Amino acid sequence: MARYLEQEHHIFRQSLQKFLEKEAIPYYDQWEEDGMIPRAFWDLLGENGFLCPWVDEQYGGYNADFGYSVILNEELERVGTGLIGVGLHSDIVVPYLAEYGTEEQKQRWLPDCVSGKAITAIAMTEPGAGSDLAGIKTTAIRDGDHYIVNGEKTFITNGIQSDLIVCVVKTDPHATPSHKGISLLVVERDTPGFRRGKKLKKLGLHSQDTAELIFEDARVPVANLLGEEGQGFYYLMKQLQQERLIVGIGAVIAAEEMLQMTIEYVKQRKAFGKSIAAFQNTQFTLAELATEITMSRKFLDALIMEHIEGKEIVTEVSMAKWRLTDMAKQVAAQCLQLYGGYGYMEEYPIARRFRDIQVSSIYAGTNEIMKAIIAKNIGL
Ligand SMILES: Cc1cc2nc3c(=O)[nH]c(=O)nc-3n(C[C@H](O)[C@H](O)[C@H](O)COP(=O)(O)OP(=O)(O)OC[C@H]3O[C@@H](n4cnc5c(N)ncnc54)[C@H](O)[C@@H]3O)c2cc1C
Repeated sequence: MARYLEQEHHIFRQSLQKFLEKEAIPYYDQWEEDGMIPRAFWDLLGENGFLCPWVDEQYGGYNADFGYSVILNEELERVGTGLIGVGLHSDIVVPYLAEYGTEEQKQRWLPDCVSGKAITAIAMTEPGAGSDLAGIKTTAIRDGDHYIVNGEKTFITNGIQSDLIVCVVKTDPHATPSHKGISLLVVERDTPGFRRGKKLKKLGLHSQDTAELIFEDARVPVANLLGEEGQGFYYLMKQLQQERLIVGIGAVIAAEEMLQMTIEYVKQRKAFGKSIAAFQNTQFTLAELATEITMSRKFLDALIMEHIEGKEIVTEVSMAKWRLTDMAKQVAAQCLQLYGGYGYMEEYPIARRFRDIQVSSIYAGTNEIMKAIIAKNIGL
């Protein structure tokens, strides 16, 4: 057990596993078909204390430490990467509300985030700006007690289902440098002038809801500004450490799952009168992958520990994000190869895992952007 986990964490994991065995695993294939996780599942997660357990007790949470979030993200990933929207809500978006929200905003929003009544999303990416966040075009111009928001967001996780969206906007489109004009606004479900665009069809993560969001003179109350005007970019940079750590956790768990299912498969499949597992190529391939996964896990656990201690580890987390997701993609490709033609068939979970892992090197900042951050931080 990792150093940051104690007996209570273990009990939490067992009850979560039991919950997911009953409420998620039997339905997951159907959710993949439907292209959506039903809201009823979110309600159940909330009822059972599995959403944002870290939130302060006064807003309905349990004040739980980050170890519980690690477990939550791990166990959701074991079921399938399509559940990524739950972890995004619980440990990526809601932390913005808790960290930068006023007392009034926290009372207004946090209890519903914990109960599952409110699903959240974060909208940074636009059709014309992904990696280059400072280049976003969505504007929020003050008009009395409201901001008038115009623009378009795309690839937004929980896009269709979300009730509260932390939206990255330009409150000062003329600021120089441009990132100083960025602010965070919370857009609520029934905001006039706000609508959902297309629900996007994707290579993988079929059960995850990914969508476009459209703002046409949307009227968002000034009371929904998060933190200070012009500070949005800095808030994002600070919170992205945890987001990237969570993507790293998902990558390691996905890799572990793929390795395990492949070990079982090669032991029972036969060719040339012996099991596939008996070939030296199979053994060396899987031994190498097991080594990569174990080394990744050790690095990840060390970073989780430092994150819990409140250390600023942006460079190391950027390293973990690119390396761990690349590692998991390599595991996917090599495991699939060991399945032969069956690996290409939808009825074998390795096929879904192979599709789903591809995006891990793209979202939460592409792996190239991670390397650009590392290069800058080592003095280049
Ligand atoms: C399934 C899914 C879910 C997502 N969920 C969300 C979400 O919830 N909220 C949200 O805001 N966004 C979300 N995204 C968007 C995601 O964060 C972006 O796709 C990502 O940041 C890359 O932006 P882009 O797609 O515009 O690619 P681009 O920025 O156009 O990049 C294209 C290529 O150029 C490379 N590149 C760009 N700049 C540089 C550089 N300086 N140096 C070297 N190479 C560079 C990139 O690495 C990439 O390989 C999601 C995306 C997907 C696919």
